[in-house]
Formats: sequence, structure tokens, C-alpha cells
Amino acid sequence: MPNTVSPPFVPYRIRVAVPAHVYDCFDYQISAEDYEQAKVGARVAVPFGSRNLIGVVMQKLTPDTPENPKFKLKPIQALLDDDAILDNKVLTLLTWAAQYYQFPIGEVMQSALPTLLRQGKPYDLLAHMWRLLDQHAEDKIKRSEKQQLAYKILKLHPAGTSENILNLAGIETATLKALEKKGICEAYLEQKDFSPQALSLAQMPLTANPDQKHAIQQVLKSLSSYHAYLLDGLTGSGKTEVYLQIMYEVLKQGKQVLVLVPEIGLTPQTISRFQSRFHCHIALLHSGLTDAKRLQAWQSAQMGKASIILGTRSAIYTPLHNLGLIILDEEHDLSFKQQEGFRYHARDVALYRAHLENCPIILGSATPSMESYALADQGKLTRLELNERAGTALLPKLHILDLKVGRKQHGFSQFLLDEMHRRLARKEQVLIFLNRRGYAPVLICESCAWQAKCPHCDANFTLHTQPYQHLHCHHCGTIHRMPDHCPQCHHTELKPIGMGTAKVEESLKELFPEFEVIRVDRDSTSRVGSWQKIYDRIQKSEPIILLGTQMLAKGHHFPYVSLVAILDIDSGLLSVDFRAPERTAQLIVQVAGRAGRGEKKGDVYLQTLRPEHPLLHTLVDGDYRQFARQTLKERQQALFPPYRYAALIRCESKSQEQNQQYLTEHAQQLRQISELNIDIWGPIPAPMERKAGRYQAHMVLFSQDRARLHYYLRAWWQNMLQHKPASMKLSLDIDPQELS
Ligand code: ADP
Ligand code: ZN
Ligand code: ZN
Repeated sequence: MPNTVSPPFVPYRIRVAVPAHVYDCFDYQISAEDYEQAKVGARVAVPFGSRNLIGVVMQKLTPDTPENPKFKLKPIQALLDDDAILDNKVLTLLTWAAQYYQFPIGEVMQSALPTLLRQGKPYDLLAHMWRLLDQHAEDKIKRSEKQQLAYKILKLHPAGTSENILNLAGIETATLKALEKKGICEAYLEQKDFSPQALSLAQMPLTANPDQKHAIQQVLKSLSSYHAYLLDGLTGSGKTEVYLQIMYEVLKQGKQVLVLVPEIGLTPQTISRFQSRFHCHIALLHSGLTDAKRLQAWQSAQMGKASIILGTRSAIYTPLHNLGLIILDEEHDLSFKQQEGFRYHARDVALYRAHLENCPIILGSATPSMESYALADQGKLTRLELNERAGTALLPKLHILDLKVGRKQHGFSQFLLDEMHRRLARKEQVLIFLNRRGYAPVLICESCAWQAKCPHCDANFTLHTQPYQHLHCHHCGTIHRMPDHCPQCHHTELKPIGMGTAKVEESLKELFPEFEVIRVDRDSTSRVGSWQKIYDRIQKSEPIILLGTQMLAKGHHFPYVSLVAILDIDSGLLSVDFRAPERTAQLIVQVAGRAGRGEKKGDVYLQTLRPEHPLLHTLVDGDYRQFARQTLKERQQALFPPYRYAALIRCESKSQEQNQQYLTEHAQQLRQISELNIDIWGPIPAPMERKAGRYQAHMVLFSQDRARLHYYLRAWWQNMLQHKPASMKLSLDIDPQELS
């Protein structure tokens, strides 16, 4: 008998992105039947080490794909979806982002999924419904109040109602099941309705002014292919109207529009402007939603029910049925950059997505980032300018107030106080900006100069007076009781130095007892809806003093504010970060832009101890664009981003020597392999060297050649991760936005 050689056994395999801190995908064994069934982009439950994880199918491997000998092939546990829940374009986008930011693919995939899907909950396109069968069942349920209530509510919904809604009304599923047993009601499944709503205009568009018209026409020329625009429009120049009119044309074609904004909680009026313009389904995607609501919004975007998808940075990964336009409003805002874990920049991801989807993208801002201006200079973004305030409003005028001269009260120049009085007497509103929460940033002993410092960080405690006196470290969250004497010399006079919003609020109440002072910061608006309430009050013509932090700087429309004062501009002028001037200029222009948006002309006062600072003069005598031109020139000369590409390595451990030694050693390796194509800065201690009891060090890599930088980084970074001491934490920040 001839010898027959049976072919080697080749199991069916799929490649899965698992949510673990590993850089590769893993292969799993799968039955022939499941192999047929499995879809790329669907979820799958797999064993991983001693755990079970929910991963995403990235690839169905053909039998000739070589096996990875590193791993023993394990079988999957279950396929969780009949269909792909992440489409091909989103998978390509996520794979690209994982590569570009050099972050584990499985964890990147997770950022695209709503929590419930991440946890492996059913996708469930069917709704669990209940309806009444017996209309005269009162006698059968006399003994149970719960059943009576459920019965009553079911009776109100003859067409049936969803179990979720019944549960929300306090009716337990067990009660419904008890009624079902008695034949009073029944459960059934109903297809959820994901059909798009017909589009109509709820409100007539405004008559666009010439700049707006030009911008709209430019974008409309290229609706069916990739084109990136920078809408560079002064504060109050009507950027939203431009968005709305372009969106209408896209929506009319039956396509979806994805709108990204910095923080939804702070922009209720943006939402309401979309809602009042269009009759169509709008899905909101942000972190403030319950898991169930987020899943629902995500599904309506994915299935095409939602025509407008409005979200914060992670919404850029939402699978969309038929994307026709991306808008990224306030594109300069730092919140588009994720600052921990998977450190992506939603602006860059959005540009890549628009390219993949072959649709236009608009980045809008009154204070564009230097990155975007540089892209415009290279012809990669088409710049569209809006040079006038829309309607009849005029641009506010900036003034510098030298704090070194003249009388002062509670840190306010007398001139400013007089101006404030004048405005308030005319029933106008005043906005005071100070980017520091709490009561005072320093607590000092009057006798020996001891300062209250966080024991775990290189930072002072901030004194808070609400809801009670305490010391709070804004860097690690440590809270201490307020000492009643100096721990060093036992002196009992401890003095707060400097001012936070809580202290300024106290001073303003004393200086302006007849007017209302409203403080807006994270401490005062932490309750849900409180910002909305404040916002509604500001929209009325009443003399009010508004006092707040960053939150007040973001795109709001305050028609009655005619005076804006910025109290602590100096901290931004003194910072060493090369981006500090850009951030400071953006902040000044954005805060200033809240003034004079109604009929009243606005004035903006900058209190400073450094009135001669060139940045202030550029803004006062010129404008943001002039500032930007100058800044770009300086960056080009100094070879800073956007003229070189950067990557920041953050290293954290129990000892600074250990950090320095490890980074130095690896810096040398990189110098050798990269043949001088990469400029290495550091390692140096981080600006705040000790944080939460651990030491921080930084190393920055610069290169003019992005591809090379990323190429050399790849293997080097993996090697560095593999050999680090267990207690050391390392992270890589590609295109870092903050050197802290
Ligand atoms: P931006 O977003 O550029 O700061 P907004 O879009 O908030 O500006 O517009 C500022 C104000 O101008 C809004 O009240 C808006 O309704 C109004 N506005 C915009 N475009 C026009 C226009 N073409 N005619 C009249 N008013 C306009
Ligand atoms: Zn003392
Ligand atoms: Zn601390």
C-alpha cells in the first residue's frame, strides 16, 4: 500500500484586537462554522491569560497565513455580533491611529466602542416590549399594588411600550413577568426604528454677508470629495451660520454631518442652534451620557438614523452610515487632544478620516492653531476668512492696564473699578476672567514665611473656603485640613497670598454690594444643569458681574457683556513652554470675544505688571493673525513645531536618578541608530518634578522628517518598554501639546 501523507491540520483562525496593553493582535482558533459566520469588525469573546476579554475581529486568516509560533492557539469563546459593528473605514482609521500614535491596537479599538458594547452586552437591534392582552383584569390583581400599577401603565399604552421605559417608571421586569403568567400581558420583540427622519428647515437661514457667502460657496464647490478648509473667522463673525448653510446642502443629499466641539456641557446653545435650524435627528455623543443613552446615540449614528452627530473628541471614531462633512469647531482648543492613555489629537484624526471618507472637512476658529496655519501655508488647508462681526456688532477694543501705577483695591486697578461701575449703572454686564479656582494659591506664615505645600508634589496647596476651609492640591487631589497655626514656628497668623476665583468673588461682593456676582468655575457649576441656569440668566438684559475661569472663554454668546477684564495674564507671559504665547494669545482673544456681541461696543482690559510685553502690544495694536504670523516666524527660526515634529517621552518612578539613567542610556542608543536625524532634548526633570509622590522626567525628540522620526521611534520605543524596571511608568506622546 502506498504511503499517504495527510496534510497538516490547519485550524480556522481569526486575528483579534484584544483590549490589553499589548501592541499586537492575537490569533484565535475558530470552528469552520463560526469562521463562516465571523465578520471583520464584529466583537468576539476570547480567553486572554487568565481573563476573558471582548475583542474585535480584525482579520479572517486564510489557511496559508503562517502561524505565529510565539503563541499557543486558543479557541474563541463566542462570536458576539452577527454583523460588523465597526465598518471598514473606521477599522482603517483606528488601525492608522494605533500606528501613528504607537499605542496598543486593542485599547485603541476600545475608544471607538460605547461602554456597553465594550462590556460585551448584546448589540440588540430589537427592543424588548410589553403589551396588554386583558383589558379587564382588575379583579385578578387585587392583592398586588405593584401589579396594579404596572397594569395601569400598560393600559395607557395600547400600542405597547418598551421594557426600558417601564423599568424607568419603577416597574420591575419581575412584576411584568408575574402579569404575563396570569395571561394579562405579553412580552414581544420589536425592530428598533433606525430609519432617518425626513429633513426640513425649521427656521430660515440668515442672509449671509459677503465673507460668509464666499466661504459657503467655496466649500459647496467640493462637497463630494476630500477637501480641508480652515474657517478663520473673528469672534462673532458668524462661523456657525456658515456651518449651518453648508450642512443644509449636505443633509439635503441624504448624507450625515459629524460636528466635533470641545465640551458639550458648556455649549448647550450650539446644540440648540442646530436643533432650531433643522428638523432631523441629532445624536449627541459625550461623556456626560448614561451608558444606555450613549449606546442609543451611537447606534443611531451608525445605522444612519441620525443626520447630525454632535460630539466631543472621541466621537471622531463613530462609525457612520454615510458621512458627507466633518466640522471641527474651535479647532485650537486643547481638549481635542487626549492627554492621557491613548494620546491622540482629534483634529489630526479628523483630517485623516475626511480623507478616508472622501468628504470635506472644516476646521473653524477665531484663533487657529499654529499647526493649522502652517498646513494652510503648505496648501493642505484652504483658508477662508471672515473679517467682520456678523450683524451690527463691532469688535471689542483691547487696553493694557499697568498694575504698577495708580490706586488699587483688592487687586483691581481703580480705573477698572470705575469703568465697571459705569457699565453696571447702564445696566450692562461685566465679565472678569481669572484662570485660577479656589480662594488663594498660597498660604503663608506671616512670621517665618513657611508655605503650605502638598507633601506629595512640588506644589503649593490651594486654599479653598467652600464648602468649608481646607487645603487642596490641584495636582494630585490631596486634601488637608486648614492648619490653625504654623507647623514651623507655631505662629497663628496664616495669610492667603494671591487670588483665586473664590477670593475675587468675595472682593467683588464687597466692592459692588448692589450688584449680583455670578461665579462660573468647576466648583460652582459641578451640579448638572447649573451652567444652563446661569447661561439663561446672562441672556437677559440685567447688570451682572460674571466671574470665571476657562469655562467662560469658550465660544459663548453673551450679548449684554460690554466690559471684559483679564486679571492674571502675567502667568501666561512668564511660562517657559514654547506654546505659552500661543495659548495666552488665544485666551485673550477668546475671552475678549465675549464682549460687545450685542449692540454695545465692548472694551477689554488686561491687568498686568509687564505692560511692555511684546505679545500684549501685538494683540492691542494688531490682531491675532498678526500675532500668528510673527509666532510662526519665531517657531521656524527656533525649529519648533509645526516646523519640526516632536515626540515626548514621559518617565515616572520612585527616583529621579533612575529616570535620568534609564532615559540617558536609551537616548544614546537612539542617537546611534538614527544617524543624527533626530534631535534629543533631555532627559530633564519635568516642570513639576515630583507629583503624587513620584518623580517625573521628560525627554523630547525633534525631527524635520516625520516619517523618519516615527520609523526610528518604533523599535526603540518597544525596546525601551520591554526593559524598563517594573515600577517605572513610561509614556509616549506623539505631537505633544503640552510639555508638562
Ligand atoms: P462665531 O461663532 O463666529 O463667534 P456666531 O456664529 O456665534 O459667531 O455669530 C454671532 C452672532 O451673529 C449670532 O447671534 C448670529 O446669529 C449672528 N449672525 C451670524 N450671521 C449673521 C448674518 N449673516 N446676519 C445677521 N446676523 C448674523
Ligand atoms: Zn511660621
Ligand atoms: Zn499633590
